[in-house]
Amino acid sequence: MTSPSPVWRPFFQHALEPDPPTVVRAQGAYLHTSDGRALLDAISSWWVTTHGHGHPRIVAAIREAAESLDQVIFASVTHEPAERLARELVALAPAGLTHVFYSDSGSTAVEVALKMALGAFSNRGVARTKIVAMEGAYHGDTIGTMSVGERGVFNAPYAPLLFEVGRIPFPAAGREQATLDAFEALARAGDVAALIVEPLVLGAGGMRIYTPQVLAELKRIAEKHGAYFIADEVMTGWGRTGTLFACEQAGVSPDILCASKGLTGGAVPLAATLASEEIFAAHHSSDRAKTFFHSSSYTANPIACAAAVANLEIWREEPVTERIAALSRWQAARIRRFEGDPRFRAPRACGTIAAVDLAVPDPGYLAEVGLKLRRFFLERGLLLRPLGDTLYAMPPYCVTEAELDRVFDAFEEAADVAG
Ligand code: PLP
Repeated sequence: MTSPSPVWRPFFQHALEPDPPTVVRAQGAYLHTSDGRALLDAISSWWVTTHGHGHPRIVAAIREAAESLDQVIFASVTHEPAERLARELVALAPAGLTHVFYSDSGSTAVEVALKMALGAFSNRGVARTKIVAMEGAYHGDTIGTMSVGERGVFNAPYAPLLFEVGRIPFPAAGREQATLDAFEALARAGDVAALIVEPLVLGAGGMRIYTPQVLAELKRIAEKHGAYFIADEVMTGWGRTGTLFACEQAGVSPDILCASKGLTGGAVPLAATLASEEIFAAHHSSDRAKTFFHSSSYTANPIACAAAVANLEIWREEPVTERIAALSRWQAARIRRFEGDPRFRAPRACGTIAAVDLAVPDPGYLAEVGLKLRRFFLERGLLLRPLGDTLYAMPPYCVTEAELDRVFDAFEEAADVAG
């Protein structure tokens, strides 16, 4: 008999969930397990593997970087992969983002963004300290990111660690004006340093979609009142909503943009927080106290930067946009089939993200059905993780239409299992 695993897994209830499968290899859209099964990775391993697992260009870049320069302290030296990546990111990102700060995860990208906004005002001697965020948002699990995220099941025990922020309601269809009015009222007070939003889609908050028009209006209000606009594109970036960054669909140039997940094509951890010239300039001073005081040991790890450079090469040289367009079309067609089916609610899609809620009596993240269905999907060879009663797919761009059919057929069956 083997002893129980000492591993403590993330977002995993060890008392209720059986031991997960052991994955020994991953290729393309599939995870291969130690017991010989192939699981279709329909959520891109937590929304990261945009091109699928083991893309040869990324694998080669990682191998080469590991052999030539594995790691170096970035506060003291620079290196070509980081320099090249920063130049390419600035060229690709919405206009006005001129500087790139590296970190290691989506959460740290957001922490850095919040610190940049507060630091810029503080360094200029301007008393703006309030952050405004959207109800239902998820920005990560560190202290700052939990503070700007929705308060509830994910962070209730840690409330003593969290700071207060201003909240605007989610701009649900038909209620957009209430969101804009709420932000206008908060911003008018003149103490708002920044508004942070997930552009177009709230991810972990239930794959809720809002319009580019609202996004553009929120940016306009922020600008009018002198508050910075932070776009957390950790999930929505790298083509997830159909365009490279979701902000593009609203013609919005944020003051700060957070990127991670698909930045390396999902192979190794890396994050980038892009900032405007004004925000960089507020930290650029002969006064050393105005330095941007943030670091982590692995800032701009060369292997990760090389993987990201390879990812951008894939975007330039392979038909990624066409793959995204086809995938978005297939998913939209399948998700529409749930319309009018009383077992489902609110079928929706945005780019490569498709979601539908089950009509269950106990909605929410802790809904029993979520756990039950995770097992059900695994038995069908599908890696899916419902957000409570919300079923969603966010597959890698190499997925085929037939593979997607398996996912959506399983969604249909899931309604009966749930009932
Ligand atoms: N921001 C958004 C919008 C996210 O969806 C996530 C993760 O899902 C994060 C931040 C946190 O990223 P990470 O899990 O890499 O820390």
